[in-house]
Amino acid sequence: MQLSLPDPELQRKAILIHDRLCRVYGCPIAYFHDLDPLSELISALLSHRTKNADSHRAFQQLTRQFPTWEAVRDAPTAEIEAAISSCTWAEQKAPRIQQVLQLIGERIGEQREEPWSLNFLAELPVSEARAWLESLPGVGPKTSAAVLSFSNLRRRALAVDSHHHRVAVRLGLIPLKVAVAPAHAILEAQLPANWTAQQVYDNHEVMMLHGQKCCFYRNPACHRCTVLDLCPFGQTRQSSCL
Ligand code: SF4
Repeated sequence: MQLSLPDPELQRKAILIHDRLCRVYGCPIAYFHDLDPLSELISALLSHRTKNADSHRAFQQLTRQFPTWEAVRDAPTAEIEAAISSCTWAEQKAPRIQQVLQLIGERIGEQREEPWSLNFLAELPVSEARAWLESLPGVGPKTSAAVLSFSNLRRRALAVDSHHHRVAVRLGLIPLKVAVAPAHAILEAQLPANWTAQQVYDNHEVMMLHGQKCCFYRNPACHRCTVLDLCPFGQTRQSSCL
């Protein structure tokens, strides 16, 4: 992923927003997963457009029923689909997961000291690790960032979900026309290069939490928002209520 050059004004604004939101939501924020990167990848593929509880249940069922990733790859697809049925689109996710495992097996699975491990990604520069992951079908910037940041690799990569994206658009950090995938490079470039992986993770978490707890899709609670003075959308909305 190519990082674009940040606008210094936007970078200052992004840091100010981060600091304010961190005071509200309490940084540093504890990591919610401690999975190895391959497990995190499968978990991320299951989580697409699925509630966390449902994708967690699917992951638990899949790993309970099939003790190795090789077994998941080689099982009848209908059995995988049944195991992950708590997810949305299980009929699409089951063959996709098997296809991804097939490719990983061909590329690295049986050739390394640690078979079925993506731990080698820890040794690559983040941009190369992301490119490797994004060469797999169904893996875009959000999933590659999730694998590197949320897994026990704990690398510096900014994931942007739909809440994070909505908040960033309303705050004017990215234009409305920029979709979630290309927003990753723009938003990550606004964060200081010397920030740690934890700080970058915190940024994802506080922007997401703000979208869940205050900047709702419908009826954002601008009157109690800690970044109202920095938000063109919120100020327009508040003035139209007067
Ligand atoms: S002021 Fe309103 S629109 Fe802006 S970030 Fe806060 S809640 Fe969202």
